[in-house]
Amino acid sequence: MSARLPIIVVGGGIAGLVTAIAAAPTPVLLLQRSPQSASRLAQGGIAAAVAANDSAQAHAHDTAVAGSFHNDAAIVDLLTRGAASAIHWLETLGVVFDRDADGNLQLAREGGHGQSRIVHAGGDATGARVMDALLAEARRSGHVTRWSSVEVDGLMLRGDHVCGVCLTREDGSREALHGRAVVIATGGIGGLFAQTSNPAEADGSGLALALTVAATMRDLEFVQFHPTALALPGRHSLPLVTEALRGAGARLLDSHGVPLMARVHPMEDLAPRDVVARRVWQAGRQGGAWLDARGIGSDFQRRFPTVFEMCMSHGIDPRQQPIPVTAAAHFHMGGIAVDADGCTSMPGLYAVGEVACNGVHGANRLASNSLLEGIVFGRRLGMRLRSLPDIIPGSGNFRLVRRGPALTTARLTQLRELLMAAMGPVRRRAVLREASQECLALAKEGWQGGVACALIEAALRRTHNLGAHHWEDAEMPGQGASLRQFA
Ligand SMILES: Cc1cc2nc3c(=O)[nH]c(=O)nc-3n(C[C@H](O)[C@H](O)[C@H](O)COP(=O)(O)OP(=O)(O)OC[C@H]3O[C@@H](n4cnc5c(N)ncnc54)[C@H](O)[C@@H]3O)c2cc1C
Repeated sequence: MSARLPIIVVGGGIAGLVTAIAAAPTPVLLLQRSPQSASRLAQGGIAAAVAANDSAQAHAHDTAVAGSFHNDAAIVDLLTRGAASAIHWLETLGVVFDRDADGNLQLAREGGHGQSRIVHAGGDATGARVMDALLAEARRSGHVTRWSSVEVDGLMLRGDHVCGVCLTREDGSREALHGRAVVIATGGIGGLFAQTSNPAEADGSGLALALTVAATMRDLEFVQFHPTALALPGRHSLPLVTEALRGAGARLLDSHGVPLMARVHPMEDLAPRDVVARRVWQAGRQGGAWLDARGIGSDFQRRFPTVFEMCMSHGIDPRQQPIPVTAAAHFHMGGIAVDADGCTSMPGLYAVGEVACNGVHGANRLASNSLLEGIVFGRRLGMRLRSLPDIIPGSGNFRLVRRGPALTTARLTQLRELLMAAMGPVRRRAVLREASQECLALAKEGWQGGVACALIEAALRRTHNLGAHHWEDAEMPGQGASLRQFA
């Protein structure tokens, strides 16, 4: 890295990497815990209205319907209009998307989408293929320096400007670093729940950093649960059984073999995720839920190699038997409040990807919109940061604000169970209030407790049902935000 002051990007998933690449030629120091990320696990693909009979407006409409019209319409527009060029950009970086015999992009269909528009690579290995290409580009471009095995656990301030980070290495050594800006791209919060599709490291640490400097948060109560994680009792991080299987005709069944989604929603198995997750959650309490993908037959292994291998490694042959599934914490719609360019309420601090909330997902994310979010808004942010001067922002003395200690393993397990019961697909006031008290106690012991308190407070403040936030004991009927903004 040159001696010039870098932009510091915390997180090496799709959002952090794209931001870093797009900031060229400004030097970037990218800090990450490990090369693992949720981005690498993404199976379904990237939503993009690239078919001749599709449009960015139709994609925006589906995004808003899934989000219960709680979305920011202008931001949704940026996302869906930017999708085709995002796919083209990835192709220029070497991503080979799956095509049919005529050379057209193969488009899969997923829940909530009015038509087939999910672009994928390597069958169900889209996240890995995209991440490999981005990493290769970051290495080629020369302006990005990556440090792995570091934990960013504090921010540096000068006046009210964020101007650096503090980090701890695996050997326990600590360092404080200056940057011309700090970008938080630390991903989601699934790791704070007892069952998740996320890696355990997706634990809301970026939210904790932002909370230490009192950055504004938005929509923290909206947590999406994936309806079809592989049910492996006792396991925390569960492999995902991709929704694209339902797009290919697989059906959810209850313990009696009765279709779960019949008469629940007009789109049945392809209903929005919150609707399906609640049904699977309820079935889980009444004997279990299964995904019957036997109809895909002998083509299964070729079309869904990742799911096939994962099922077989757990003794389940999906060509011969239904797959046991459960709802698992999957995606956080809320996060650090940002504008379209990733600016937070704190000068010098930016956020992008799942940890950020610019309003694009509303109250529930449409499937396969989040890799797209990382690309579209990562590129916008990177380009904005290019023009930052080579100086430490702010004036006055420097001070470090640390996140504080982490919970012990036993306490973290307790917190995960607590959040799963209180902040799951179906919520109850009494349970949430009790959890709030327990979390206040946990917050004194570790930073994860503080994040959990913020989530619970946000959920208690939203008194009506909206999108992924669902009260079993709702005080008022569900109400969406104005439909007029999307008219
Ligand atoms: C199993 C699975 C399948 C999915 N499938 C799809 C799909 O098909 N399509 C789609 O659009 N979306 C999908 N998603 C969602 C999507 O993958 C994520 O929302 C997206 O990848 C998040 O990207 P990100 O860059 O914000 O965070 P991540 O990819 O999670 O990266 C976070 C980074 O932050 C680092 N980090 C975290 N905390 C710290 C810290 N304190 N210090 C240093 N580094 C830190 C981590 O090491 C990591 O590098 C899926 C998610 C999962 C879990």
